[in-house]
This record gives sequence, C-alpha cells and structure tokens, in this order.
Amino acid sequence: MPTPVRLRFPPSPEPALPRDRQLLLTAASKALGIPENEIAELRIQKVSFDGRPRARRWEVRAEVYRSGEEVPGGPATEPPRLGTAAPSAPHVVVVGSGPAGLYCAFDLLASGLRVTVLERGGDVHARRIPLARIHRGLGVDPDSNYCFGEGGAGTYSDGKLYTRSGDKNAVRRVLELLVAHGADPSILSSWRPHVGSNKLPKVIQSLRGTLIAAGAEVRFHTRVEELLVELDAGGGRRVIGVQVRDLAHPEQECSRVASDAVVFATGHSARDSLELAIRAGARAEAKGFAMGVRIEHPQSWVDQQQYNGLRSEHDLPAAFYELTTQVDGRGVYSFCMCPGGWIVPATTHVDRVVVNGMSLSRRDSPFASSGLVVQIEPRDWCGKRAIANGLHELCGGAPGDPAEDPLFGVRVQEALETRCAKAGGGRSRLPVQNVAAFVRGEGTGSLHETSYHSGSTPTELHELLPTGIAERLRQALIDFESKMPGYVGEHAQLFAPESRTSSPVRLARDAEHLHVLDLEGRPLHGLYPCGEGAGYAGGIVSAALDGRRVAERLCARLAGVPSS
Ligand SMILES: Cc1cc2nc3c(=O)[nH]c(=O)nc-3n(C[C@H](O)[C@H](O)[C@H](O)COP(=O)(O)OP(=O)(O)OC[C@H]3O[C@@H](n4cnc5c(N)ncnc54)[C@H](O)[C@@H]3O)c2cc1C
Repeated sequence: MPTPVRLRFPPSPEPALPRDRQLLLTAASKALGIPENEIAELRIQKVSFDGRPRARRWEVRAEVYRSGEEVPGGPATEPPRLGTAAPSAPHVVVVGSGPAGLYCAFDLLASGLRVTVLERGGDVHARRIPLARIHRGLGVDPDSNYCFGEGGAGTYSDGKLYTRSGDKNAVRRVLELLVAHGADPSILSSWRPHVGSNKLPKVIQSLRGTLIAAGAEVRFHTRVEELLVELDAGGGRRVIGVQVRDLAHPEQECSRVASDAVVFATGHSARDSLELAIRAGARAEAKGFAMGVRIEHPQSWVDQQQYNGLRSEHDLPAAFYELTTQVDGRGVYSFCMCPGGWIVPATTHVDRVVVNGMSLSRRDSPFASSGLVVQIEPRDWCGKRAIANGLHELCGGAPGDPAEDPLFGVRVQEALETRCAKAGGGRSRLPVQNVAAFVRGEGTGSLHETSYHSGSTPTELHELLPTGIAERLRQALIDFESKMPGYVGEHAQLFAPESRTSSPVRLARDAEHLHVLDLEGRPLHGLYPCGEGAGYAGGIVSAALDGRRVAERLCARLAGVPSS
C-alpha cells in the first residue's frame, strides 16, 4: 500500500512544481522519515496553491511507494486502440461533436457499437477561418464559429476543467482520456486543471483519430435538419434516424442516415436543433440560467490582490478569483473567470453579440476577465415579475406561466444579444462601460485598452440591460468591492452581454433509461438528449460525463439488438 504524504512549499523562484521531482523526493523522504533511495515511486495526487494572505504556499498531496512495493501503471499518454465494431452491430448517430458527443461516441465504440458523428461545423483547422472573420467584424458563419464545429464550444474555449461533479473517479477518467490524446498530464493533479485554447484543438483532433480508427464515421459540415420518426408495433413512436444537409453542397437534396438510436448533443446555442427535437415530439421544459456582463481588469491588479506582489518573483500562475453574492433573492456571481486571457465574440448569429472568455495554456495576456452573471429562474420571466425585471419590455411580452412558452428563456437571450449588437454598432463591436461609472449610474466613464479585438462602443449599460439584471449587478458590484477593494476601480470595464452561460431549456428524459419523453410523458424511443444543450450539463467536464452516462444506458439497451 502506498503511504500518503502531504508536502508544503513556500512560493519560490525554483522551477514550478510539480516538475521539480528531486525537490519532492527530498521533502517526502524527510516527511516520512525514510531514506530517499527507499522511495521507488512518488505519485502526485493534487497540487494546489493556497493564496490566502497568511498561507501563500504550495501544497502537494502524493502517494509514496517504497522499494519492493508493487507500483501500478500510470495514466496512458498514448491514444487507446479500440476494436472495430462488427458490421452487424447496432448503429448510433451522434449529433454534435462537442465534449458530450465525443465522449459518448468513444464509449459507444468501446462497447462495440457502430457510430456516425454528424457535425454542422468544420474540423478544428477549418474553424479557424470563420473565427478570424468574426474577430475582424466580417460576419458570423451560423454553422462554424466559437460554438459550432469539431469539439463544439469546448475546442476554442478556455479549457478550464473544473466541475462541481462529486464523482472524482469519473472526472479523473474524463481527464485521463484528454491526457491520452495529448493534454499535459499535470491536469490530473492540478487543483485548477486548464488546457488552454492553443492546445485543445490538437487534443480534439487526436480524439477524432481514435474514433475513426475504431470505425466511426465523422462527418463535418453536415447539419441535421430533421429527426425521422415512425410508429412502432405497439403504437409508440420511435426515432429511426436523421435527415441531413451537406453544407458543402447546400443546393443538393437532404439525405437520410438510418440508425438504431440518435444521441442529441447539440449544445446550448443551437436553437434550430432544439426546435427539430420539439417537432419530433420531445418535451421542452423551461429551466433557470444566468445572464449578465463580462468584467475585465488588468491581470497585474488581480495578481497584486491575490499574491501581494509575489507573482513574478515566485513564478506563480496568473491569479484568479471567485465572487458570489445574493441580491434580492437571486445569486450574482463571477463565471468562467479567465486569468491572463481574452474576451472573445462567441455569437452564432449575424446581428447578435455574445461575449465569453478564453486563454492560452501560458495564460500570459495582460488581462483578466470574468463573466458577472445574475441567476434567472423561469418565474422571473412570467407575469408581473417579467414586468418588474424588465424582461417583458425586452421581449415585447411575456408568458403567464413557464409552461406556456418553454423556449421563452431562449427568446430572452436572443433579445438581449440583438439589443447589444445594435448598441455596439455592428461588425462584432460590443457595448462597453467603465465599471465605476456603471455603479455610479453616470455616463460611460473612462475606457481603456482591452483584450477584445473587434472594437467596442461606449454605452450606458443600465439602459441596455433589463432592470432586474442591471440593478442586481450594481448591488453585487458594491458587495464585491467590499470583498476585493479596487474591483470597482477606474481600471475595470464591463462588456455586454454574457448571455450563454447555460441552457434555459431542458429536454425531458426518462430518469432511468435517459431516452426523451414527449408532452404526455411517454417515451420517444431511440432519441437521447445529452449534454449542455439538453439541459444536463454546464461546462466541458460535466458535458463529457453526461455523454458517458448516455452511452452507458444506450449500450445496455442496444445489447443484443440486431442492426437497423
Ligand atoms: C469561448 C468559450 C469558452 C468556454 N470556456 C469554458 C471553460 O473554460 N471550461 C468549461 O468547462 N466550459 C467552457 N465553455 C463552455 C463549454 O465549452 C460547454 O459547456 C461545452 O462545450 C458543452 O458541451 P456539449 O457537448 O454539451 O455542447 P457543445 O460543445 O456546444 O457542442 C455541440 C455541437 O453540436 C453541433 N450541432 C448543433 N446542432 C447541430 C445540428 N443540427 N447538426 C449537426 N451538428 C449540430 C454544434 O456545431 C456543436 O459542435 C466555454 C464556451 C465558450 C464558447
């Protein structure tokens, strides 16, 4: 049995932990009172930096194997080789190649099923062209952008891999698959694992290689436009495949892909896809989400706050923060904080703007940005509350009850994104305001250099944001200033809108078998909503976990089913 050991190190200009193995061995031998040459292996479990002013130190949790003890194999750093499915094996179509779709496809293949992955956007390389066009304000390709294309919204994301999921082993297995496809093994032990948008595309490309080697067909520029449904013998309804358009030849007729099951992992920005699931009979339910702005500070200011000037002297990573409060019964919190990163235009539509953040693995940009978002519950956009929150005015009406219009949350997102695009002045320009001016409610304030490349237009954001969001943000900022003095300083600015934090809709699914349910609660066999767009995940790791959950249930159902 390995001996657990907990080691602490002051910040130092030594090579960054955990790469300095000798330092770790010496410290472990001292902590356990055994000679260094008796340590056969030291396995790092967790590396973290305690940034609290009185602590400020590295902490390493490790397991030490002594000479003579059996040392288990480490995590694979090469892609696994899966067997190829028999031609008679059941066939599953996976719609969407985001983390949910890719992990689902991997597990289906590993269980011997045949898989076709259909993705509306381009592969990781082809995606770079539409991304560059969005940055230059030259328009948005509605099928290939920051959210759509190989790897989904995860590929050109920040690549932070934290999750609130309690199943540590399942999370580790998700990260191990990334390591096997080229991600840095340090993500397995880091307290804040992060890959970076410069490294993710290669990892995703390698994962695609593994899927194809196992016999998967992966088709890009292929948009699913309809689900094919038929009545089964018992009078129930069953999805038997999809109708697709080849976007490389959009003038051609759509074609059909038959399957024994369809995994629907289309992400939270594909409203057209949501509608086609509803047309096929899936029940959509309104769910809470969050919306607000993105705040940007100089990274040097965040470092000074969190490390008190120690960062460069002691080779510390770009500092981050997490802030949260409650205002008038709703949470307001920092979201997807990107130390040393960039603000990016993450819209999927011409005539709308959306902000998000990303960073490279080095996290070396001089800017720190974070979403600052307000929790919105379905009842907030209904009846009198919709009027009080300014959502009735934003959307030109509101339902009396969430069930009356399950997609109303999507309409709220779209209306704010359109309004902000108009205020920004087009060509990906964003409305911007100095944060101190926003809190004072006076003018647009002084504006500074920013990481956002596509331009911005000074705007009084409280006139743009619905009252319920603007006022809660203002009060939350006052609270955050008391927790982190200078947060509402003249050096910080706000960009709007951060509107795509999660899906405002959930597709109902059977709790045990995970197939979709219709309006009457009956199963629509063969259709499996999955990941963030279906309302079962929020972030890369939780989407991957949901993909695996769906694969597991689907494999159990399809075991022994003859192919279509
Ligand atoms: C800029 C940015 C930064 C982010 N940073 C982080 C981060 O640091 N950490 C984190 O955990 N999360 C981050 N996220 C969020 C994260 O990327 C998502 O939570 C995650 O990708 C959701 O996975 P998914 O598989 O459910 O859906 P998605 O990744 O959205 O994938 C859905 C896929 O389905 C495809 N699709 C949709 N409709 C169709 C159709 N009809 N036919 C064919 N294909 C279709 C889309 O093209 C897309 O590729 C970020 C997102 C963005 C945009």
